[in-house]
Amino acid sequence: MIVQMSEYIKNLKTPIAIVGMGKSGEAALRLLRVHGVSPDALLTFDGKLPSANFNDAEIMMTTAQPKTLVVSPGVPLASEWIQKARKNGVTITSELSLACSCLTSERLIGVTGSVGKSTTVSLLGAGLATFSKSAFVGGNLGFPFAGYAADIHEKLCAPADWVVLELSSYQLENCENLNLDFSAITYLTSNHLERYDNLEHYYETKWKILEKTKHKIFLNSEGGDLIEYSKNKGHQEQVQVVAKTDPQLQKLQLENALLIGQHNQDNLALTSWLAIAAGWPQSAIEGMKNFKGLAHRLENMGEQNGVRFINDSKATAMDSVLIAATAAHDTLAANGKLLLLLGGKDKNLPWQELHILNKFQNIEFIFFGECRAIAQQKSALSGKSFANLKDALNYSFNEAKKGDTVLLSPGGTSLDEFKSFEDRGNFFKKSVEEFIQS
Ligand code: ADP
Repeated sequence: MIVQMSEYIKNLKTPIAIVGMGKSGEAALRLLRVHGVSPDALLTFDGKLPSANFNDAEIMMTTAQPKTLVVSPGVPLASEWIQKARKNGVTITSELSLACSCLTSERLIGVTGSVGKSTTVSLLGAGLATFSKSAFVGGNLGFPFAGYAADIHEKLCAPADWVVLELSSYQLENCENLNLDFSAITYLTSNHLERYDNLEHYYETKWKILEKTKHKIFLNSEGGDLIEYSKNKGHQEQVQVVAKTDPQLQKLQLENALLIGQHNQDNLALTSWLAIAAGWPQSAIEGMKNFKGLAHRLENMGEQNGVRFINDSKATAMDSVLIAATAAHDTLAANGKLLLLLGGKDKNLPWQELHILNKFQNIEFIFFGECRAIAQQKSALSGKSFANLKDALNYSFNEAKKGDTVLLSPGGTSLDEFKSFEDRGNFFKKSVEEFIQS
């Protein structure tokens, strides 16, 4: 395998400061090191991490005088000191740009959006897993891209045929070397406005993905403000709006996918078009249809003895519970019942918003944990109540019949009984397994 030196990295002016020493900063540092940048020419800055070389930006800029800043997505580019450095001729780059400068034959797909990025990227990953031995799936989600580039340089793995990157708007602000073959925008809604002057600026940053894409860019037709925004940008050949109702997608039978919920049908429609455009085999579509969902987020654990179990332990907002309950209810077997487990620890949540679920005849509400009384009182939903999740599960397992679904979408946080939502979700999954084996 021929290892390519990055001309871009070779030509960066030193000293180079890595700004923000999270996962992405660490990966950038490693990549620069393996590409031969001398340790003496590398500095680290982090406002909070005592182990970084500098904790004060002004002091770093005046004493060490870096000529290049590798700015992590978590650090606002608009910071006064970064803008001042830029004006003074300091090169501003990113972990993503460093990694992109090392690519050789890889083909790239980028996914951005206010919500749905991780799901869409993971769906593409599940598709790739059916036929590719070398694909890289990551970026903002999971493993940093510079880590991949460093692995390639050190011959720890072969170059990927396909790279799928989850791209936050922060990454899209600072990605000069990014060249995508295909891309997708999942959704636009007001998010992260603390980092932007206004909504237009935020949407504009997401829309930048267009300039970075060589071939098609796919937009979710149900993507919040996305379609309206794209219309204002005028017609562009490269852009394809994707709807789950598209007749061309009918033969793929996406409605049989394990991932539940109408929003996930939108995500699947998007990833199916990407797979078709990229020329992936049919197996990729099947792989995506068999994707169970991200852990603890509407994670479909499948059926046991005709009972379906869904782990949505991450749901700690009423919106998430409503989405999960509706999705599970819409996909119930005929005559099936939904056993919905609600509870955990309260954080003054508007449980009354759940009252709307009362309109469904075939949902049984089961309350548990510290906030069970307040949740039940505010939501005015009737149902059994248990001191802890274990007792609520024991009841549900005995109650559930063929055709039923047991859904943990608690609404409350996990902290009354567990360390984290992951811990709570794992407890649910383990309890399901033990019940099945008993
Ligand atoms: P992100 O990575 O962008 O934060 P995720 O894929 O983790 O997004 O999804 C977060 C939540 O957003 C999901 O739990 C779901 O409730 C919602 N969501 C996901 N995809 C969509 C979509 N296409 N349309 C509307 N909401 C969505």
